[in-house]
Amino acid sequence: MSTERYEMVVGLEVHVQLKTRTKVFCGCSANFGVPPNVNTCPVCLALPGALPVLNEHAVELAVKAALGLGCRVNPISVFARKNYFYPDLPKGYQISQFDQPLAEGGAIVVGQTGKGTDIQIGITRLHMEEDAGKSIHDRYPGETAIDLNRAGVPLIEIVSEPDIRTSEDAGAYLRNLKQILQYLDVSDVSMEEGSLRVDANISVRPPGQVKLGTKTEVKNMNSFSAVEKALESEFARQCALLDSGGKVEQQTLFWDGTRESVRPSRTKEGSHDYRYFPEPDLRPLMLDAKWVERLREDLPELPDERKKRLAEEYGLAATEVEQLTSHSALADYYEAVARASKDGKGAYNWVMGEVQATLRASGEEITHFRVRPADLAQLLNLVRDGTISHTAAKRVFGRMVDTGKPAAQVAADEGLLQVGDEGAIATWIEEVLLEHPAEAKRFLAGEKKLQGVLVGLVMKKSSGRADPKRVNQLLSARAG
Ligand SMILES: [Zn+2]
Repeated sequence: MSTERYEMVVGLEVHVQLKTRTKVFCGCSANFGVPPNVNTCPVCLALPGALPVLNEHAVELAVKAALGLGCRVNPISVFARKNYFYPDLPKGYQISQFDQPLAEGGAIVVGQTGKGTDIQIGITRLHMEEDAGKSIHDRYPGETAIDLNRAGVPLIEIVSEPDIRTSEDAGAYLRNLKQILQYLDVSDVSMEEGSLRVDANISVRPPGQVKLGTKTEVKNMNSFSAVEKALESEFARQCALLDSGGKVEQQTLFWDGTRESVRPSRTKEGSHDYRYFPEPDLRPLMLDAKWVERLREDLPELPDERKKRLAEEYGLAATEVEQLTSHSALADYYEAVARASKDGKGAYNWVMGEVQATLRASGEEITHFRVRPADLAQLLNLVRDGTISHTAAKRVFGRMVDTGKPAAQVAADEGLLQVGDEGAIATWIEEVLLEHPAEAKRFLAGEKKLQGVLVGLVMKKSSGRADPKRVNQLLSARAG
């Protein structure tokens, strides 16, 4: 394999849409899903004389993202015009930041922390910019339509150092980045909806060589696994090219997910000279140090800290913590159940078991889940104190999902309160023995291994209400 003679060198550029109500330089709504060009005004349509006004909330979210990624926030940053012509860019330039970005010098750790396999991927810079509009080529035959709803929506661009050496590390970097931004609540971070987009710069070099090879830029990947596949494919292409005596040409490539290969872009995007210059309509962005410090103090607990704390506080294994922290809302739900029930392990089993299965089936979000943490905790408590059996608990849970009623009420309504009463259990046992004479005969003659079968039948007869411990005791007594 020619790929073994080379090392992959990757840097990623990630565009993230900030979760603001309005656009970054005008008051238009930043919402998705409205008819084309509804969310527009003279500013984002670039009508003559219209001036941009910076959205303070967008700055706040961008600074939070920078702090959460361990970046140094610059007290002064400068908006710049990035000049290029494209139909979806009415001004003929994009307002971005160039030589004085909002923040610099953060990092994301990939690999399992503490296992000696972790690698630090540096973040070169994080800057603010506006999104462009969207060209629609498939709506009117032979014509291109423009939707400017997205023009002026606030973005941050997060540029990594070329520290990534494998496609798996690229995937891990992106998954961690997404999780941190999601915990910070600065973006919806959805690749499907376009609020997180990834471009990859990739080059190859013989291992040990310091100088970087010529890079290509790969675009148009719509999932993290597509990024991983595209990097493998482009890596193999560059290696084969060098091995056959060719040269890698600096160019922009598009990932074709259906053919699983890259193809050159029709325009020579890589050769643009953007001729950046400071945006004359916006003053330099000066941030008050105290305001930045306050944002830093108010940062929520981030994924790595939370994993560590959950493992210690609730005695969970690393894999369990990993599952629970995949989404901050899931971890919030779990913690509320675990605290109220004082049963970390039981809460884990229920949340990752029944709760997740129910959510998967209905497609609901946990934040809107009908069974609230306090109600689930009550169910756990009812099982622990023997009021209802494990079997009955699953039925109670199902009814809680359907009705939204608390556990104790459902158990009472459905007649699922556990029966420990000896008389009732003895009656169920007699009935089962009568209905299954062959098994009864063998059991009473000393065939102990049939006891489990009979307990199951008694539980079924009692609709899960019999206390299985008492059933076992009484059956043992009968067998002598
Ligand atoms: Zn507007």
